Amino acid sequence: MHDILPADMPYWQLLEKTVTAVFSSYGFEEIRVPVLEKTEVFTRAIGPATDVVEKEMYTFEDRNGDFLSLRPEGTAGIVRAALQNGLLYGSPLRLWHAGPMFRHERPQKGRTRQFHQAGAEVFGAEGPDVDTELLAMGERIWKRLGLQNIRLELNSLGNSQERTVYRQKLVEFLSAYSKELDHETLQRMQRNPLRVLDSKNEKVQAILENAPRLPDFLGEESRRHFEGVRRMLDRLNIEYTVNPRLVRGLDYYCHTVFEWMTSDLGAQGTVCAGGRYDGLIELQGGKPWPATGFAMGLERLVELVKQAGGVPVHWPHVYLVHSGPATQLEGFAIAEELREAIPTLRIVCNAGSGSFRSQFKRADRSGAALALVIGDDELDQRKVTIKHLREQVEQESMSREGLTAWMEHWLGEH
Ligand code: ATP
Ligand code: MG
Repeated sequence: MHDILPADMPYWQLLEKTVTAVFSSYGFEEIRVPVLEKTEVFTRAIGPATDVVEKEMYTFEDRNGDFLSLRPEGTAGIVRAALQNGLLYGSPLRLWHAGPMFRHERPQKGRTRQFHQAGAEVFGAEGPDVDTELLAMGERIWKRLGLQNIRLELNSLGNSQERTVYRQKLVEFLSAYSKELDHETLQRMQRNPLRVLDSKNEKVQAILENAPRLPDFLGEESRRHFEGVRRMLDRLNIEYTVNPRLVRGLDYYCHTVFEWMTSDLGAQGTVCAGGRYDGLIELQGGKPWPATGFAMGLERLVELVKQAGGVPVHWPHVYLVHSGPATQLEGFAIAEELREAIPTLRIVCNAGSGSFRSQFKRADRSGAALALVIGDDELDQRKVTIKHLREQVEQESMSREGLTAWMEHWLGEH
């Protein structure tokens, strides 16, 4: 679990601002749900035969003897909240959320035990149009962040009957190779065969080259759904590749599934993953209701934004230097007047006392561009002195009355 230190915050803030703006530009509304839920909310939604539930959840018994878990993902809690608060079963509901998630996995680059996701969900729309809308929204976020090297992979999982038939064929095929398969693959074959397609083992991937392909098992309706997504993506000029081995580990996924990935992050290159999960709401105790969504990993996106550069750092514009109690009092009043008049101005007042020399050292270390000096002479004459800390410009002295206009003008040029 990592601290996010001040030096990284500008990247996080840029990302959060961008994501919020793009989501709301598509009419998505924010929802915030608890970080803790009853464990069964996740075991039911995510499924027992998954890495997340089998090995990764932080679960404990509380003082009442209830089993609670820190959320490993956002969707299960949102579905629980939507059901409990009667938000479903009307016209399509578009929601987004963001926050910390917890999974006890092996920490490595791009993989931590507390990480952050932002995600979107649409409830009550079954067509390929909303699947495509989610993809357009992702593409728009990358574009606004200036990230060019993120590609989209897409697949269709069809419906549950089609998958049942396919699953049998896949297991039959793999059984012939059982001597060559690793322990994990054999286990997946028994518990959740589609996840074999996801194997990171190269030998397994080589065997899979000749395995039956999921797209060949799709019926008429499933094909039409998938074609709908592709046609709309083409019209919107969103590039993608169809990857017939792309699956999601969970059984309630159907039709469209997708991942956005990059080669700029090493092994953990998936920055966003999602798909349609029409079966989930029924699993959570509701009436069947269509649903589709995605989640993106914010740490990985922050890393990409950093690599892309160009994010402004939030240094103060102004550092206020004073000569003692009387000038400090006036200085504070001047700083307040400036903040009142110019809401975007960042101004730091020297805390406590100190020689001019030590205050200027602090001003320099703060990264401020200007020092606003109020000493005894300035106080007597109702003036201030401005020193440029980063540019070769003569210091200037001006009346208190002229300061706000001067500062507005300066800010406009910086
Ligand atoms: P993987 O197969 O790599 O474990 P996953 O299927 O567990 O991925 P999802 O549950 O789909 O991942 O999560 C969506 C996104 O959240 C991922 O694509 C990734 O960007 C991010 N993510 C997931 N787990 C972590 C983690 N432990 N640390 C950092 N980011 C993560
Ligand atoms: Mg995982």
